[in-house]
Amino acid sequence: MHKEAFMVELVSLKDRTVVVTGAGQGIGEGITRLVIELGGNVVAVDRNEETLKKLGSELPAGRLMPAVADVSDPEAAQRVVAQAVERFERVDGLCNNAGITRPAMMDKMTVKDWRDVLDVHLSASFFWSQALGQHLIARAKAGDTKGGSIVNISSDAGRKGAIGQVNYAAAKAGILGVTMTTAREWGKYNIRANSICFGVVETPMTEVIRGDKFRDKILSQIPLGRWSTPDEVVKAVCFLLSDAASYVTGQHLGVNGGYHISL
Ligand code: NAD
Repeated sequence: MHKEAFMVELVSLKDRTVVVTGAGQGIGEGITRLVIELGGNVVAVDRNEETLKKLGSELPAGRLMPAVADVSDPEAAQRVVAQAVERFERVDGLCNNAGITRPAMMDKMTVKDWRDVLDVHLSASFFWSQALGQHLIARAKAGDTKGGSIVNISSDAGRKGAIGQVNYAAAKAGILGVTMTTAREWGKYNIRANSICFGVVETPMTEVIRGDKFRDKILSQIPLGRWSTPDEVVKAVCFLLSDAASYVTGQHLGVNGGYHISL
């Protein structure tokens, strides 16, 4: 059987609706494209209206609902999930992917940079999980057994720390706690929650660490000896969103070429 045909059958998101945050570029854009390719609908959330417009012009309008929002706003999470339910009747999945970096060594980091990063990664993951969870729990209580799947994008930084990014490492470690708690509280509703820890993916976020100054050192710590493209890593997100992962919950999956097992 052709490899892609096999994947479409094993990992199907047919008729599923998934909220993807940070969908305008990078990994979120890749997730959005693959969910649609696998038969699903996407509620594409980003604060950048331009990138969302571009995405909208390239993907089928019937399957994509662009939503301009700041993920760190809890009211936006409630509003967008409600609009998505109205538009698609139900929402089945969520990928908390939006992210920023504000690097500085610990002794020089400003309170604003600390708070901004915590807000966009950690608080937002909680706000959007809560908004979707309330919808899914109401559905479960009404007798629907289909449940849902939440994928939180963490990072190796959340498992190893990151020099010059205490805000990011702390937020990404916190996301692991949100994931495990979601899995434990909502397993009874067949709502699964997992984290993915990426290593170094070729997106604008990693331009500096892929540059001349850090390249050789980092590549020497990745057993597979290379970065990944967004297209390569988003397959793992769709696997966790799909029924192919129906017995997988509370896990932290490294999609990183083995980066986290090296020093
Ligand atoms: P990116 O910078 O290319 O894209 C991030 C997207 O999030 C952008 O479209 C941006 O507009 C959006 N965004 C940022 N703040 C937002 C806000 N407040 N509200 C709404 N949207 C917002 O980043 P990426 O490399 O695609 O990273 C995606 C996720 O993967 C992030 O959570 C990041 O921490 C994580 N990650 C990335 C790597 C990597 O190597 N690229 C490694 C580990 C983890």
